[in-house]
Amino acid sequence: NLAFFNERFMDPNERVLPVEERGLQFGDGVYEMIRLYRGVPFTLQEHLARLEQSAHSIMLTLPKTVEEIAAIVRAGIAQTKIAEGTVYIQVTRGTAPRNHLFPEDVAANLFIVWKEGVPDLGKQQEEGVVVFTFPDERWHNCYIKSICLLPNVLAKEKAHQRGGHEAIFIRDNEVKEGTSTNLFIVKDGVFKTPIADQSILNGITRQKIIEILKKQDVPVLETRLTMEDIEVADEVIITSTTQEAVPVVQVNDRKVGAGKPGAYFQKLAAWFQKEVDQSCSS
Ligand code: PLP
Repeated sequence: NLAFFNERFMDPNERVLPVEERGLQFGDGVYEMIRLYRGVPFTLQEHLARLEQSAHSIMLTLPKTVEEIAAIVRAGIAQTKIAEGTVYIQVTRGTAPRNHLFPEDVAANLFIVWKEGVPDLGKQQEEGVVVFTFPDERWHNCYIKSICLLPNVLAKEKAHQRGGHEAIFIRDNEVKEGTSTNLFIVKDGVFKTPIADQSILNGITRQKIIEILKKQDVPVLETRLTMEDIEVADEVIITSTTQEAVPVVQVNDRKVGAGKPGAYFQKLAAWFQKEVDQSCSS
């Protein structure tokens, strides 16, 4: 494993930050998580474009260009020779004495961590997972991939303590997304997923899956989803960079469809792997 801080590569355990850092004290930053398949960063450009948008949305200028960050990401992959793993990128407003106002003349801090290994999805994809719903107590700008993740952390922990795999946020009677996943349902052969407005993160995996479904001529709708839609769904699927697609077989105390991973999930998983194979052939 390897890390990068501002201008240099370093050991991820090295101490580089004073306590007075805006990411630490205010959660004043944004991030990305990228998946490596066979040493290739999947959808790197999309992730870096979103990083730039997130930064822009919080009035933060990235300390390097997207091209420079991509070059560092690739240099780290070459150095670590990681095949299957992740790259985490975080940019904060920088190191400054604690004060809510933006510090003047402070450079943003850029952190990157390369990590070998990914969670084994085998069991979850074979058996499906249980999720629990929670009121969405997050702010109104969930389209920004902000490092302020306390509501996500708390909801996921509560779901875990009940034996669940993920927590799904409900806002204004609408099903939105998981704490680190987007959500799709399948009803009568039609995929449906919440509209990517300001209330959810427009997942790169979500976008890729919509693209794949369209290519396969499978109908997919971006629409409002309620708990009633979940209750009558044939299948429910959660998606993210590190989890790809995972079938949900139970929501709260209610089984989804037949209570086991469905045929559309199986198809989608195969199409997704094909897409990964095509983009990440070494
Ligand atoms: N929704 C939230 C709140 C997330 O934090 C994430 C990823 O971490 C996702 C959705 C999935 O996004 P992506 O597919 O880009 O990983």
